[in-house]
Amino acid sequence: MIDFEIPASLGKQLQILEQVALNVMRPASRHFDVHEHDRPWDYIKLMWDGGNNAGYRGRAGSGDLLSMSGGEGGEKVSGPKIRNLALMYTVEMLSYGDCGLYLSTAGGALGAAAVEAAGTPEQRERFLTRFKGGEPKWGAMAMTEPQAGSDTANIRTTAKLTEDGKEWILNGEKIFVTNGLMAAQESPGIVVVWATIAPGTGRAGMRAFVVEGNTPGMTVARLEKKHGIRASDTAALTFADCRIPYDNIIGSPELAKAEGKDSKGFAGAMKTFDATRPLVAASAIGVGRAALDFTKDFLFKQGVTIRYDAPPNVLTAVERDVMRMEAQLRAAWLLTIRAAWQMDIGISNSLEASMCKVKAGEAVTWVTQKAVELLGAEGYDCKLLVEKWMRDGKINDLYEGTGQINRLVVARRMLGYSSKEL
Ligand SMILES: Cc1cc2nc3c(=O)[nH]c(=O)nc-3n(C[C@H](O)[C@H](O)[C@H](O)COP(=O)(O)OP(=O)(O)OC[C@H]3O[C@@H](n4cnc5c(N)ncnc54)[C@H](O)[C@@H]3O)c2cc1C
Repeated sequence: MIDFEIPASLGKQLQILEQVALNVMRPASRHFDVHEHDRPWDYIKLMWDGGNNAGYRGRAGSGDLLSMSGGEGGEKVSGPKIRNLALMYTVEMLSYGDCGLYLSTAGGALGAAAVEAAGTPEQRERFLTRFKGGEPKWGAMAMTEPQAGSDTANIRTTAKLTEDGKEWILNGEKIFVTNGLMAAQESPGIVVVWATIAPGTGRAGMRAFVVEGNTPGMTVARLEKKHGIRASDTAALTFADCRIPYDNIIGSPELAKAEGKDSKGFAGAMKTFDATRPLVAASAIGVGRAALDFTKDFLFKQGVTIRYDAPPNVLTAVERDVMRMEAQLRAAWLLTIRAAWQMDIGISNSLEASMCKVKAGEAVTWVTQKAVELLGAEGYDCKLLVEKWMRDGKINDLYEGTGQINRLVVARRMLGYSSKEL
């Protein structure tokens, strides 16, 4: 049964993270919004060292908060498995502080999630232990290309085996890689690169490869300038005759032999998203909650209190709006906690992972716009963070599958259609 109470073992960690959100992240929010490519080192080091010292090093910890690197939800956590649930609460709380800063937290993030979802035990050991100590390191996942966003099967980056079969040579261009700079160039991190081993065969030829930070041939072509989440580094990466060892292909080496004939490689990508889409949803909820709390406080100072016990016919339009904001976020939260809980107990959650992301992406977009609207000109002014939350929140409806693409996933899963049929 899903437990809607915050697990006691997690409560203390969340209290600490709330202090970080309010006292470390919020005061830095505007600076890193205005100075897009500055790195928030104070925050990064605080979180990395904090994770080490607190000893909660699993996925819910903060040093390797987003490493997805094994462990059972932090060594100090006992009782039922709450690994994904713990991560969901953590991401929500940090995004309540600042979504862009949360994304810049050192750890394995999407890159490690891909290794964890589809890698062999040897690969997990080789690629993920780096996120457990030493200097801060980042992981990234590079799927998107100029001609291939939602249409992932259209990727053109190639991976060619050398004649002696010992190495892969990657060539191609990836865009919009979250943490791309830090993972590829500024730390000994990892970039999981999706490439085709059989051009023209679509999903069947797709495989994922781990490219370690600073591998010759992988370069950062540029840093993107964005509408929101500006504290997060988003890079374009170029691969020019980038050589990596043969066994850096994620999953069984047998996958390399099934050239263009099976789509297990692509299935690996989808497994990654089952773990990470609930976290995108959690991040959306965190931003939405920031906007909602601020709006309620702002209205309260203007003498508006929300009468939860009043009948609908006497409620003002503002009260209705606030209640609807709360209801939207609560609905998203319920779907998200379900998707995370299913992962924790080992039930397939592809449907629920997409569902919660659709709902949370839509909710945060609407809630943050509503907050700007209810505050009037002040909501639109850069003196407050409300306009920023509106810009930040929208990303959750775009990356890791847009709202439309996740709706398609939901429809396919519910109706039993394949991607060829719907
Ligand atoms: C800040 C940021 C960070 C990102 N981080 C990463 C990352 O770390 N790694 C990575 O690989 N990518 C990343 N991305 C890329 C992101 O995943 C893509 O932008 C997203 O998948 C959409 O692809 P696209 O931009 O090419 O849009 P398109 O695929 O061109 O879509 C444009 C519009 O058409 C709609 N559409 C497309 N196909 C369909 C369809 N079949 N049915 C209905 N509607 C459809 C879409 O929903 C969208 O509204 C990031 C993007 C941003 C902005």
